[in-house]
Amino acid sequence: MRASTYPLVDADVAAALVLERTPVLPAERVSLSDAVGRVLAQDLRAPTDLPAFPASAVDGFAVRAADAGRTLREVGESAAGRPFEGHVEPGTATRILTGGVVPDGADTVVMVEDVRVDGATVTVPAGLQAGTNFHRPGADVHAGERVLTAGTQLGAAELGLAAALGFAELEVYRRPRVALMSTGDELVEVGKTPVRGQITDSNRWALLAALREAGVEVRSLGVAPDEPDALRSLVVDALQTADVLVTSGGVSVGTHDLVKPLLESLGTVHVGRVKLKPGKPFTFATLSAGKLAFGLPGFPVSSLVTFEVFVRPALRKLQGFAQVQRPTLPVRLGYDARATAERTEYQRVTLRRAGQELVAETTGSQSSSRLLSLAGAHALVRVQPGTEGIKSGTVVEAIILALP
Ligand code: AMP
Ligand code: MG
Repeated sequence: MRASTYPLVDADVAAALVLERTPVLPAERVSLSDAVGRVLAQDLRAPTDLPAFPASAVDGFAVRAADAGRTLREVGESAAGRPFEGHVEPGTATRILTGGVVPDGADTVVMVEDVRVDGATVTVPAGLQAGTNFHRPGADVHAGERVLTAGTQLGAAELGLAAALGFAELEVYRRPRVALMSTGDELVEVGKTPVRGQITDSNRWALLAALREAGVEVRSLGVAPDEPDALRSLVVDALQTADVLVTSGGVSVGTHDLVKPLLESLGTVHVGRVKLKPGKPFTFATLSAGKLAFGLPGFPVSSLVTFEVFVRPALRKLQGFAQVQRPTLPVRLGYDARATAERTEYQRVTLRRAGQELVAETTGSQSSSRLLSLAGAHALVRVQPGTEGIKSGTVVEAIILALP
């Protein structure tokens, strides 16, 4: 073992440093189906009114409000997509169906339930109000109105709105291409039986899921051995196409820890150790052409917590999200959260609802190897170093992963 030469960086300083060095990827034009879940790179202005014409909200009769209480002659029909092209004169009405154009001359629609039809005549009730039972042009959206702003994530409603306004394609930020690999001579593929001293590579599957959930394209590159040349050639090859490299393992100070020197030789290491528990050996580097490299620690919880704290916000920034951090909510601690002497700790908790409140309970042993501390966790509670910790009953802002 040798001592690390990397300074221990404050966790918040390291997180800010990562985001500072993370660009937003360029935009591209994609079809609506490829735009699902992407982030809009343009403000979207309505080219037309919605609705574009006075559209009936009900099935009934288009009439003039001044004809209230009279028996009117039916002169035609305005169905959805098949407008009545004539004029509704005094003393006349047209049948109208939901979505049909309210014809010229008519100023109101009477519901079919409210009239009496007798052959080719229809008797309408007294006291009709002009402007009833139809949507005026521009009632939903005005031509020229800004309906979506850059930075908005495109979900069902946003894409439906874009389609309604005639946009078949949208400008969205490019998705990052991420190359993922595990490092370590002790690792075997899942499904193979480890011999004594070997362990199954679980980080790659955990990180693959975390990357997919973060909305990026992932290339999973398997396990790199603890051998400098083999690791280097895998990484160099991956970086031909990837924007981001994510590795796990090989960042602590043992002699087999090869990731930091490799990243030094390929670019600039900005963070090599963090005052963070779990995740002290977290490593961040920038490489040529604005590419980013994240060397995550090998211990399973450390790799996922550092992913949460550093990688996920960076991946969201690359994709153009206005909001890169998880939401926080006030939670009442249901346990005593002890502080660590030197490092900010992210403790994993479950939440339960108690009246108006959320109560946080520890997931048990917070060992960096114990994935059960993270499986089913609803939130992360930050405990600052060198303090008394946080007493049970205290309300703190927790980072929400999932609500109970
Ligand atoms: P390292 O950072 O390479 O020293 O790894 C620290 C510890 O994390 C190792 O001793 C393993 O127990 C564990 N570990 C490393 N890589 C993986 C992986 N891909 N999957 C599961 N555990 C791992
Ligand atoms: Mg290792």
